Amino acid sequence: MAFCKYCGSQLPEDSVFCSSCGKQVVCENEHEQGNDKSQQTEEQIRALHQQIDQLKLANQQNNAKDSLGIIVLKIIGGLAAALILAFIILNGLSNGF
Ligand SMILES: [Zn+2]
Repeated sequence: MAFCKYCGSQLPEDSVFCSSCGKQVVCENEHEQGNDKSQQTEEQIRALHQQIDQLKLANQQNNAKDSLGIIVLKIIGGLAAALILAFIILNGLSNGF
């Protein structure tokens, strides 16, 4: 339920003008904050993917030193850590955190 920020009257969700004071009621701020949050999450996930790519590159560079099994374990470990982090972030968002 939305409230007029000028007079405090209760407003229907989709109302554009307040029926009490007639001022234009824009709830865009709330939506923008929500978008910012999801954008931040996408950027964090993108950064995580970049870190994973860097890990993979580093692992490829160490290819001569490390055995294939260790490299695969490192990649899987990195992916698992990234997935867990992304899951925690998304969980926090869905809880309205
Ligand atoms: Zn009003």
